[in-house]
Amino acid sequence: MFNFNNTYSKLSDNFFYHVKPEDFPKSSLIIYNEDLAKELGAQDLDHTEILQYLSGQRLINNEEPISMAYAAHQFGHFVPQLGDGRAMLLGEVVSNGVRRDIQLKGSGQTPFSRNGDGKSALGPVLREYIVSEAMYHLGVPTTRALAAVSTNEPVYRNGAEPGGILTRVAASHIRIGTFQFFAAREDLKSLKELADYTIQRHYPEIKELINDRSGEIYLRLIQEVAKKHAKLVSRWMGLGFIHGVMNTDNMSLSGETIDFGPCAFMDEFQFNKVFSSIDRQGRYNYQNQIPIAQWNLYRFAECLIPLIDNDQNIAIDKVTKTLEDSLKYYDQQWLMTMANKLGISDYDEDTREIITDWLTYLHDHELDFTISFRTLTEDINSFAQFSERIKAKQGEEAQELMNKSNPIYIPRNHQIEKVIDMAYEADFSHFFKMCEMVKEPFLRREEYEEFERAPQKSERVKATFCGT
Ligand code: AMP
Ligand code: MG
Repeated sequence: MFNFNNTYSKLSDNFFYHVKPEDFPKSSLIIYNEDLAKELGAQDLDHTEILQYLSGQRLINNEEPISMAYAAHQFGHFVPQLGDGRAMLLGEVVSNGVRRDIQLKGSGQTPFSRNGDGKSALGPVLREYIVSEAMYHLGVPTTRALAAVSTNEPVYRNGAEPGGILTRVAASHIRIGTFQFFAAREDLKSLKELADYTIQRHYPEIKELINDRSGEIYLRLIQEVAKKHAKLVSRWMGLGFIHGVMNTDNMSLSGETIDFGPCAFMDEFQFNKVFSSIDRQGRYNYQNQIPIAQWNLYRFAECLIPLIDNDQNIAIDKVTKTLEDSLKYYDQQWLMTMANKLGISDYDEDTREIITDWLTYLHDHELDFTISFRTLTEDINSFAQFSERIKAKQGEEAQELMNKSNPIYIPRNHQIEKVIDMAYEADFSHFFKMCEMVKEPFLRREEYEEFERAPQKSERVKATFCGT
């Protein structure tokens, strides 16, 4: 049973609304993530009970869910109020000392829904389930999927589609946009409350500064967030992952990958690859992800200026210095991630040149990102023009490093499309198979051979959709 221990709903009233999930009486449970349920202490529920809890038919512990307020820069434009328009936080669970949010996505309207129906189509639910679980098993910080439910009711997007509800598990749902919400309202009291809460929950390493009144703690917070995001986005880069919607509401303060919309793993490598149908300018293309994460960090830091010094000029000076200093983490993390993929742990500027040449080669020849790195892992001589240069930089642990940095399996787009197409015909077999496949991305298994292959030209997915 979920043993809730809620803290966010105890913050000030303007942080959220109390909400009730819509009742979806015809729903059925597609999948329940038993491994994750065990981690959360929620393994002793029978499936009828789970379904009732996760489809709005019954409240857990009579606890009222909440929808959280946030703002965001969406594609560079500031929107002062967004909030959970189709998501509801059921509660927080602490297990093994880790606090996590249990949230429904697609469970009906909230005061933040504006013109939206608060629902989700089944396709995006299945996509998020597969990709977030794949991320987890690839070792990338990420929200996870506890369950997927079919509502067995239509939602209307471009025509009727089957509806679904995802149960998401996250270290928290505090976003850069949550800070922007209060900063835009010049509500310093709430801003400080949020900042201190975030530090308590995610940054225990700076907690001891909490009674220090110099504002130093918020400069440290900027720095620590920079480190987390630098690591996160570098890991995406190392997997050829394109998030697709790096708006500031989709950047979590916990440093987890969150909000899997039109995201995708690249097949053939292109520096400026874009999948999202709504990213027409390519703002969130593959190679822009680090600069955009830095842009987002600036938006975060701006929010904290009033907490740092009463004198705005002094505060801006301090923040500017901290930001300049913090940008280095992004390059350091990227260089380390890419060097490790080439089996190089002792990297330097020469290594950077090798990486750039190698990626340019993949780009020019439109080679598959995942397969090329894995081929190199399994036989370093397979790309003759690079092998000597790479070997000269490698140390003793090179093979081991490459084995664990270069997956065999990623959840390829055309396979996810196949999952969704089949699910819309009520056949979940491919979904289940893919959910198993993603659990061991570094171990080759005969029964998953189709997931290792790149798409044929005719199978290639050119665009992905949010589907919201
Ligand atoms: P996202 O693109 O998922 O980051 O969502 C951006 C904003 O749109 C958030 O405030 C969402 O809550 C809201 N939103 C997305 N889909 C829906 C929907 N079907 N109904 C209501 N609000 C939605
Ligand atoms: Mg979002």
